[in-house]
Amino acid sequence: MTELIRQRQRCEMIKPLIWFRHDLRIRDQPALQGAITPKTNSAIALFIITPQQWKRHGWGAPRVSFLLGSLDVLRQELDALNIPLVVLQCDLFTHVPAIVLQACMEYQCDTVHAGREFGIDEHRRDQVTSRLLQDNDIEFKLHETQTIIPVDQIRTQTGKSYSVFTPFRRRWETIVRQTTFCTDTPRRISPPNTLQVPTVPKTVDGYEPWPGATQWLAETKHAHKRLEEFLSGTIDHYHSARDRPDIKGTSSLSPWLAVGALSPKTCLHALLNRYGTDMTQWPSGPRAWQGELVWREFYRHVMAANRNVSMGHPMQAWTENIQWRNDSNGFEAWCRGRTGVPIVDAGMKQLVTIGWMHNRVRMITAMFLVKNLLIDWRRGEDYFARMLVDYDFPSNNGGWQWAASCGSDAAPYFRIFNPARQAKIVDPSASYIDFWLSKTEADRPSKPIVDLATSRKRAIEMFKSTYKRWKASTP
Ligand code: FAD
Repeated sequence: MTELIRQRQRCEMIKPLIWFRHDLRIRDQPALQGAITPKTNSAIALFIITPQQWKRHGWGAPRVSFLLGSLDVLRQELDALNIPLVVLQCDLFTHVPAIVLQACMEYQCDTVHAGREFGIDEHRRDQVTSRLLQDNDIEFKLHETQTIIPVDQIRTQTGKSYSVFTPFRRRWETIVRQTTFCTDTPRRISPPNTLQVPTVPKTVDGYEPWPGATQWLAETKHAHKRLEEFLSGTIDHYHSARDRPDIKGTSSLSPWLAVGALSPKTCLHALLNRYGTDMTQWPSGPRAWQGELVWREFYRHVMAANRNVSMGHPMQAWTENIQWRNDSNGFEAWCRGRTGVPIVDAGMKQLVTIGWMHNRVRMITAMFLVKNLLIDWRRGEDYFARMLVDYDFPSNNGGWQWAASCGSDAAPYFRIFNPARQAKIVDPSASYIDFWLSKTEADRPSKPIVDLATSRKRAIEMFKSTYKRWKASTP
């Protein structure tokens, strides 16, 4: 018997520990709801800061800064429920299982509740943690906190995962129709908590404070207000306005959804209340917006079903053989918004300034990098991870694999956006471009750094010949 077990037996364990990760909220938080039963009379919340691991995963200052802000808000919300939030720190995921066990011992907890995560490293960390806790008679329960429907439940008739969006969405909707949703906040625990815990740190080793933070107020009430405002106006025109970066046609809720301060179920619940349970009959705006929430779940489904995807590999294996150009100057020009293609440069400027970019412009800038410059999509994925305040591993990976024509339900390799034509369609008066380029220094090239037509042809040839060679060598 280990000393830890003996120690635990001496104390009477009665508390659940709720380990928060990408679900920093109290409303519609299945791990919290699972932990707080009528019998629970005290609980501890835990968050573990892992700066080295975050660096390895490419997280940048915008994401970390928003996370710390959200964590502070969570601490206040949990205070109101009499649940203290303990924030601990270690470098890497490999150190995490021991820290969780130690916290259970220190606070005398007999169960750990957490939200299920999707990357392979997170999965391994949880497996090791689960074994270690079990060895010490502590239960580890995973809940679905990031998605509306548990993505593993969505299966074809033959029990396989989906690789195409539309049938995935149909199946998802069937399951949603059969589900009753609860998006409540758990009851307050009594007696009041008397444990003194340190406040949430304002900065983390290796991360500079991010100047763009003032644009994004982490408070949950802002997310709910934004959702309310979006649902009472913008959503009506979402289907026609969502591709227009020059107008406010989308919700901009992604940072809160990414850290889990707002749950996608809360968004869907609001839609169901407004438009009824038959989603196929909804007006075009809400119908299109619901589709985007399903894309978010689709990319999680793809990642959960294909472990390779979270290890930097494409879904379509043949695209591993593409000879990407090792063009440092081109990459640098793209990152700095100096490609000479106005819509691309405006988007990259928006990204570095506010840590966010309109979805259509993400598609245009990503496709320009991987097709016109023929630079490896993983470099772009990495750069976006570093710069986005709403960085979300499955959505970012899915978006990049879409642009590089190597993912599930990706853009066919021969369908390449012409960024100049796209700009005319989505920013007809060039007001988006003018707004962001007016903030750019004068040394932007006056014409594109690559010829758009020739580089398009080069990309198609590269993909076509790679595919042919792969096909010929595959038995
Ligand atoms: P809305 O249009 O209001 O949509 C509502 C919510 O649905 C979003 O907040 C988001 O959570 C989800 N959503 C919308 N579009 C998509 C999509 N295509 N894929 C997955 N989820 C979607 N989204 C991220 O949240 N984090 C990322 O790191 C990220 N990286 C991307 C990289 C590339 C190359 C591309 C093409 C897309 C990426 N997206 C990412 C998806 C999308 O661009 C953003 O979710 C969207 O722009 C956020 O703005 P919004 O909140 O106004 O979205």
